[in-house]
Amino acid sequence: MERQPSAGSPGGRQACRRLPYHKLVDADEEFMREALRLACMGASAGEVPVGAVAVGRGEILARAYNAPISRNDPTAHAEILALRQTAERIGNYRLEGVTLYCTLEPCAMCAGALVAARIERLVFGSRDLRFGAVRSKFQLADSELLNHRVAIVEGVLAPECVELLREFFETKRRPC
Ligand SMILES: [Zn+2]
Repeated sequence: MERQPSAGSPGGRQACRRLPYHKLVDADEEFMREALRLACMGASAGEVPVGAVAVGRGEILARAYNAPISRNDPTAHAEILALRQTAERIGNYRLEGVTLYCTLEPCAMCAGALVAARIERLVFGSRDLRFGAVRSKFQLADSELLNHRVAIVEGVLAPECVELLREFFETKRRPC
């Protein structure tokens, strides 16, 4: 899958004015690699391998992987855990200026949380054709019907993100 700003987005690249385009591309891949590393940790813990990293001003504010099974918590998706950590760290329930990197397209719960948190940018790896609520099933995160629109970039390191999930579900073994 080609990486590209999603149609309908107010402009994933233009929305972040802190870095020139080529630097932003490098940074997106760097932070997505960290999200992939976290996804691998999730797989090792027996969770569906999805990782998330929250970044503000070029600094990682939170790292999380999917953990609903180990936490007995249906809301413990990587994105939710990363949002909670970030809010606690910065002492604000609104995460303005924050970019969330996620290896997989967020579900409806997480997409709603991104809007509630006023996340500036979402960068995700592969689409989730079954549950994805940012592009695949719904377009919640940049809907004109809501009060906040997240800038969305998809496809960053998508082959790696897809392969990790494929191996996990095909083998049911630890892929990392
Ligand atoms: Zn989710």
